[in-house]
Amino acid sequence: MKENCLFCKIAHGLIPSEKVYEDDHTYAFLDINPKSEHHALVIPKKHYENMFDVTDKEAAHVMQAIKNIVDMYGKEYGITDLNVLNNSGKAAGQEVFHLHFHIIPNLN
Ligand code: AMP
Ligand code: ZN
Repeated sequence: MKENCLFCKIAHGLIPSEKVYEDDHTYAFLDINPKSEHHALVIPKKHYENMFDVTDKEAAHVMQAIKNIVDMYGKEYGITDLNVLNNSGKAAGQEVFHLHFHIIPNLN
């Protein structure tokens, strides 16, 4: 856990969040400033800054979690359209420097 990292604190329950999904390697929670209903952020529990420093193995765990959440969103909410988005680096729009993927449903 990296000191002063907001998403490390969320992953370890030190800052409250609205949990969407959890497994041994990953945690997902609702975005505090959602672009649509059920906008979630998927993070590895271990600290990585972004896609540049994450290990292959950890990246695979995060992708599996994304797939599990997409399946759950389809089954539970009937969602059929969404965006999966990652910002890696300041110039790419990254604001929180703990790797995260946005899952943004496009609900009509
Ligand atoms: P990014 O620009 O990809 O780094 O996005 C960071 C995201 O984190 C933004 O969509 C914020 O709304 C979201 N965010 C920041 N703080 C929190 C928080 N405490 N709980 C949930 N989401 C947060
Ligand atoms: Zn962190």
